[in-house]
Amino acid sequence: MIQFDNIPRSKLPDLLRKAPKAELHIHIEGSLEPELIFKLAQRNGVALAYPNVEALRAAYAFTDLQSFLDIYYAGASVLLKEEDFFDMAWAYFERAAADNIVRAELFFDPQTHTARGVDTGIVIRGLHRACQRAQSELRISADLILCFLRHLSEEEAFATLEAALPYRELFIGVGLDSSEQGHPPEKFERVFAKCAELGLHLVAHAGEEGPPDYVRSALDVLKVERIDHGVRSLEDPALVARLARERIPLTVCPLSNIKLCVFPDLSHHNLPKLLDAGLCAMLNSDDPAYFGGYLNDNLVQTFEALPQLGARQAYQVLRNSFEASFVPAERKQAWISQLDTLFDRVSAS
Ligand SMILES: [Zn+2]
Repeated sequence: MIQFDNIPRSKLPDLLRKAPKAELHIHIEGSLEPELIFKLAQRNGVALAYPNVEALRAAYAFTDLQSFLDIYYAGASVLLKEEDFFDMAWAYFERAAADNIVRAELFFDPQTHTARGVDTGIVIRGLHRACQRAQSELRISADLILCFLRHLSEEEAFATLEAALPYRELFIGVGLDSSEQGHPPEKFERVFAKCAELGLHLVAHAGEEGPPDYVRSALDVLKVERIDHGVRSLEDPALVARLARERIPLTVCPLSNIKLCVFPDLSHHNLPKLLDAGLCAMLNSDDPAYFGGYLNDNLVQTFEALPQLGARQAYQVLRNSFEASFVPAERKQAWISQLDTLFDRVSAS
């Protein structure tokens, strides 16, 4: 038994940084730092609307999801060749290793690239090669989840799936991202049913800017296994009870929520309430280059801002990250055992 009460809050930042963890909600295009955007722009001869790295970084002062998406798509415009996708993912994996991430499930948006004439195979092969190298050189277990852009049509989602099918073995699931408001899960019912038939894991963004009803229809209509964000679920007690009962994971992204004004600041984040309600919530970085921090930044800053969170909750979010990951049960258990050993040692010291 871990003696959580023996671990003072002052030890949490170090413990959170050191602990093994899984990241389940990271858009790989959202890990593009301005420096890499400029390097790739130069390599590919792409003209950017910003004169230098500082000007681009300054433009990251967006105020809502739509203005963020505008600059996000501008950044992605430098990605043209397989090597570019490899370099982007590899830069993330090096940061992930420094954060002691041992499992990463990377979202990628083929439509952001096919819209610019980049073939889906180029995207997937480049990212997959980085995943393989992460496993062999950094001991990070990594897989890809293909996301459909929800502001586009279901027909376009079907075309995206079709183009990705020759690479079916190189991704483990599908998700749904981009602007939530006005694009309910129901819009993608048929394409998700097709993906279920193909044996793909299913996840979807819901309850970030959209209402709790979107969380419910993501579960009932799309049949997803995890909800990305889902923080607005708390507005609906019956939904919260269901999420707890069915152990539906919520991939919560605190720094993203602040940057996109879902909460005014970290001290108002509802993570403590989600955990008190018994939900399988864990922390993630979403689009770390744009939202001001990678996974350890999210963990440390959130626990610092919320005095009601202690060692027990730190253990819980880390454990939840493994429980919610798409890997065999024995693999999860091995990571959870490492987590137990670490917390045991710290609580006994
Ligand atoms: Zn996201």
